[in-house]
Amino acid sequence: MNLIRIAGHPFIDFINTNPVAEGRSVELIVSVDDLRTALFELGFLDEPDYELNCDKHVRVAQELREDFRELLLADKGFRVSRDDNSKVLRQVNRWVSQIGENILTRADSEYVIAYQNGTLPKPLVQLLRSGIELLCSEKYKRVRKCSNPACVLWYLDTTKSRTRSWCSMSTCGNLSKARTFRNRHKTTLP
Ligand SMILES: [Zn+2]
Repeated sequence: MNLIRIAGHPFIDFINTNPVAEGRSVELIVSVDDLRTALFELGFLDEPDYELNCDKHVRVAQELREDFRELLLADKGFRVSRDDNSKVLRQVNRWVSQIGENILTRADSEYVIAYQNGTLPKPLVQLLRSGIELLCSEKYKRVRKCSNPACVLWYLDTTKSRTRSWCSMSTCGNLSKARTFRNRHKTTLP
């Protein structure tokens, strides 16, 4: 499983684990091993032997990714209906409500505040928190989809000029350049 690390943000790199290649959707998170590798490489899994061995977690991670991707599409103008937008926000909030909570526990004779995981395994909570932090940050304005309509990759534009248009210059950027060149060439022909 080869992650595509072009987004400039680990959560968006995770969003990009279902790219399109040659017109076909490609799922990069097929097995638990894929999921573990992705979460580890993106920094959401700090204990490599963390028990993440259930196929259910693969489905959960895919669903989480798709719900956030839908929200991105709605927020960034790829969906027009307001209803769509509130529906996808509700879906995302279902994940947010699974994060867990702080609780008081008693250790010997003293109370300590502890964090208790909700229904999601810890690495997925870390992934989810990263997504939520991104949504609530200034950076969210700079999250964009690749300008190639056939490409489904997202990125965080960290250029000073805020003019990044492509997931990668060597793929979609070059395609566009070649197209512009061809068109210009065509119009100068007699
Ligand atoms: Zn692209």
